[in-house]
Amino acid sequence: MRTITLLGATGSIGTSALDVVARHPGRYRIHALTAQSNAAALAELAARHDASVAVIGDVRREGELRDALRARGSNCVARSGPTALAEVAQAPEVDTVLAAIVGAAGLMPTLAAAQSGKRLLLANKEAIVCAGSLLMAAIREAGGELLPVDSEHNAIHQCLAGSNDEQRGQARLVLTASGGPFLNRLDLAGVTPDEACAHPNWVMGRKISVDSATLMNKGLEVIEASWLFGMPAERIDVVIHPQSVIHSMVEFPDGSVLAQLGSPDMRTPLAYALAWPDRVESGANRLDFKRLGALTFEAPDLARFPCLSFAYRALRAGGATSAVLNAANEVAVEAFLERRLPFIRIAPTIEQVLDEYQPEPAATVDDLLEIDSLARECAARAVAEHA
Ligand code: NAD
Ligand code: MG
Repeated sequence: MRTITLLGATGSIGTSALDVVARHPGRYRIHALTAQSNAAALAELAARHDASVAVIGDVRREGELRDALRARGSNCVARSGPTALAEVAQAPEVDTVLAAIVGAAGLMPTLAAAQSGKRLLLANKEAIVCAGSLLMAAIREAGGELLPVDSEHNAIHQCLAGSNDEQRGQARLVLTASGGPFLNRLDLAGVTPDEACAHPNWVMGRKISVDSATLMNKGLEVIEASWLFGMPAERIDVVIHPQSVIHSMVEFPDGSVLAQLGSPDMRTPLAYALAWPDRVESGANRLDFKRLGALTFEAPDLARFPCLSFAYRALRAGGATSAVLNAANEVAVEAFLERRLPFIRIAPTIEQVLDEYQPEPAATVDDLLEIDSLARECAARAVAEHA
């Protein structure tokens, strides 16, 4: 029996994970569920999954959460705020933490889980992009485990199983990217938030959907892969694969390429991470090879989607540059979703921040939070100039 804290329970990843958990009663128990502001949805999930604790990020909504739990006849304890988030990530009765908060906002509870030696199922890619060095060190020092949920990294984890350190040291990673909703749309001048969020293959939260439309999502994933698998930028490639059937690949020195395939449904990587090293039913549709048709591949167009090259630039610069990239992207995407910044100005805004702010390396998490906050100020000024 595994006992789980699920950070970001009301989101796209959170609800998919709870769907997998509910398929295996007796195998998983929910200790805590968290959400930022939707108290009603959180109370409903906490009651349905018999959670012991529910944490709402927004402290003003704790009363609403408590009332909603009581109305459902649930004994679940209501809490709120950042300290409660970190505490449920570190609770002694918990062995597994799913980090599924969106953005750098998830960093502190994710780090707390790593520092207390939990099995960390990582969906919150912004946390590892910002704080890869601190997060990987915390996992090593506390003796925890890290299992990637992001479908590409989950695929690579599966393809690397059975290889030794020497073979991994010579392998090359190939991350696949669908290309997003604008792969074949040339005029992006008037793109609306709803158009950017209409992903052809995946249903996801709005922030990652915009990142997929700019290809920044793939850029963040290149940085994520570099930390997770100890790979330099030169050995991580990206290829556009519009069907999203191959979730990523590993090439070994003898020329063999291993790939992981599956229907585009996050319940597959979630089930893998939840059950590892076992395998459990996920609820995802099976691939039907007789109906699949062609699987195609092409090079990414970096002139149309420069965000991918910004990520390689940040990775090569090292230090806290990836945290600056992430902060600038979060600010620009939020401005786009709030219709304060045109879609085509997202990339120039981020590039301006990278040009203007080259941070000192961050030795501690406080250094990193300071850099994140300065980068956000710089990005807010850039948004105003590009609006
Ligand atoms: P989402 O927007 O659907 O859900 C985000 C969750 O985080 C919600 O429960 C929300 O309440 C919570 N949250 C938001 N802001 C918060 C804050 N400031 N403090 C505490 N909690 C907060 O997002 P999602 O699509 O589920 O993505 C979650 C993470 O997983 C992201 O990092 C994303 O990049 C990654 N991811 C998502 C998918 C996917 O298919 N959705 C795939 C791969 C990776
Ligand atoms: Mg992904």
